[in-house]
Amino acid sequence: MIKKLLVATHNSGKVREFSRMLSAMGFDVAFEIVGLDDLGIDLDVEEAGTTFEENSVLKARAYAAASGVLTLADDSGLVVDALDGAPGVNSARYGGAKLNDEGRVQLLLDNMKGVPGWDRTARFVAVLALAGAELQGPPEIPGVQGGLVTSEGVLEGAIAHQPIGANGFGYDPVFWLASRTKTTAQLTGPEKDAISHRGAALRGLLETLETVSKR
Ligand code: IMP
Repeated sequence: MIKKLLVATHNSGKVREFSRMLSAMGFDVAFEIVGLDDLGIDLDVEEAGTTFEENSVLKARAYAAASGVLTLADDSGLVVDALDGAPGVNSARYGGAKLNDEGRVQLLLDNMKGVPGWDRTARFVAVLALAGAELQGPPEIPGVQGGLVTSEGVLEGAIAHQPIGANGFGYDPVFWLASRTKTTAQLTGPEKDAISHRGAALRGLLETLETVSKR
């Protein structure tokens, strides 16, 4: 029987990215990829942790328990050196609940006013957590402990002086990739997946997902 894999996020931009990447890796054959809405889960897990890892583990465990389905959760954000790591784990809530993506980008640009190019270094960080009874041994899967495994991915870049590009979501229009002379909002979906923090973190779970798909 085909197993379900729950991509546990309410962020539609991220659901789109995960579905695209899992399909490109061939996991749409091994797993039926479902979202929280498909399973009628309206649980909102508070991101109470202080690190990306703590939050992704909180979410994976809670949604796996609520759904009984193998669950992939992530916590990600933008870490800006000139802002001492902000917005970091607060990336989605930067500036408060009234702001949308555009407002958060503008706030970031305002807070970076006067910061010269060489000091505008930043990175996108993603930690994925995969949880579920399917991960429990025996036999134990390497890297898995207590039915849980995590994987981190990082994309290095810099904060542009103005928004450029219309693809992606969140801070993509101001995330500048010097090697490409483009922001991540100017990349196609597959181009972003090949280098993104979430892509790297997901590739770190490839062997585990393959093993589980055969159980
Ligand atoms: P969370 O993981 O749901 O807490 O949200 C992470 C937030 O970080 C998103 O809402 C975006 O604002 C930002 N973020 C994470 N990954 C990306 C990305 O690939 N592009 C643009 N913004 C991102």
